[in-house]
Amino acid sequence: MTTSPRGRVAVLGAGPAGMAAALGALKAGHDVVVYERYREARPAGNILNLWPPPLKALRSLGVDTTDLGAPTHSEFRNVRGKVRVDVKLDRDVQEAFGGGFIGLLRPELYERMLAAIPDGVIRFGQQVERIEQDDRAVTLHFADGSTAEHDVLVGADGIDSLVRRTLWGDAPKREHRLHIFGGFTFAEVEGTIPNKCVLTHSRTVQGSWTSIRHHGRDGHQWWVLTATDPDAPAPADLKAAARELAAEFPAPLPGLVAATEPGDVQRWVLRDRPALRQWSKGRATLVGDAAHPTSPYAAYGAGMSIEDGYFLGVALRGVDLADAAAVARALQAYEDPRKPHTAKQVQMAWMLGKVFHHAPAPLRPLRDFVFDHTPFLQKVAGDSNPREINQQLALIED
Ligand SMILES: Cc1cc2nc3c(=O)[nH]c(=O)nc-3n(C[C@H](O)[C@H](O)[C@H](O)COP(=O)(O)OP(=O)(O)OC[C@H]3O[C@@H](n4cnc5c(N)ncnc54)[C@H](O)[C@@H]3O)c2cc1C
Repeated sequence: MTTSPRGRVAVLGAGPAGMAAALGALKAGHDVVVYERYREARPAGNILNLWPPPLKALRSLGVDTTDLGAPTHSEFRNVRGKVRVDVKLDRDVQEAFGGGFIGLLRPELYERMLAAIPDGVIRFGQQVERIEQDDRAVTLHFADGSTAEHDVLVGADGIDSLVRRTLWGDAPKREHRLHIFGGFTFAEVEGTIPNKCVLTHSRTVQGSWTSIRHHGRDGHQWWVLTATDPDAPAPADLKAAARELAAEFPAPLPGLVAATEPGDVQRWVLRDRPALRQWSKGRATLVGDAAHPTSPYAAYGAGMSIEDGYFLGVALRGVDLADAAAVARALQAYEDPRKPHTAKQVQMAWMLGKVFHHAPAPLRPLRDFVFDHTPFLQKVAGDSNPREINQQLALIED
């Protein structure tokens, strides 16, 4: 319990980062208001996987994670089914979190997080247009002309963050020149294996699927990912485009795509932003995609957003938010350990996208030979990940 006076924390955005930051700051004993521009917390997409650290952070933040998602064991394979990478999490981690990589649909994560946030904390339909701060407070200016004053501002406003732009200026997004089609189905499809996540790469396409559990129902999600011109229009028929990309992959991928309702197929163009050297300035800081926009190739952007919210809450414990110097110290203590971990994941996602989808055609057979016959990919993608996971888990309190 904090003995310091309660401070006034504003969180901009009610995505995973904003909801986790709100729960963290509430747990630290502060008064919190989340401002969200939409009329509801709107999940940006359908498919999702979470590693154990965000699950532990959610539990610690008071979110009910019972029966949330399907535990899966992840493998990378080549298109003939040869296993290139086995992501071996420690047995005790698997036991504590019901498995490794949890497959779920995004709306259920939002529902669980919203249920943990007291009524009235999130104010919907609040578009923030401008921010200013001085030694004493941060002032938010809303689209309707009203203003609000808080001691601390947390920018959880995603890849196009107004808070990031205000603190650190604008910079172009980094185009990965990739797009991903994703969907889910509860239909029974031949070739699926319970509690599995299989990421398969052909010469130019990634075709993957995982078990999911959604509202107590077992099913599967899938995605296909390949190079594109980011400015090209989206295909008119997303499911047909996904089916074409999935056709070269072994079962169950083509069957999963075929069984998916057309309305449950979505497409995203992959973009991120290079890492910032500093996130916090004065009384304002960043969490989630606002701090480290992360390509879906990492499958960790939402997970890191939740971790950010948890660690920010820890840093704000016992801090007198009226004291500008104490706030600056707390925000720095939050961001310093977060930057290397998040930058590594963002860069790894960028690098894997380049290697698997933008390698020059003559080099692809050599690349695939190395991935099929040496432990290189296992070391880069399979062994480093469990190490990072253990490190993060050790930092999160039960
Ligand atoms: C296809 C795909 C698959 C993915 N798969 C995974 C996965 O498997 N695992 C994983 O961990 N991550 C995954 N990610 C990444 C993950 O979705 C993002 O990293 C995560 O959503 C970022 O959360 P956030 O809260 O920071 O931002 P967002 O989810 O973008 O939320 C930002 C919120 O801020 C609000 N907002 C913005 N501006 C304003 C304003 N001016 N005023 C008021 N409100 C504002 C927005 O309306 C929004 O609600 C995936 C992403 C995609 C596209």
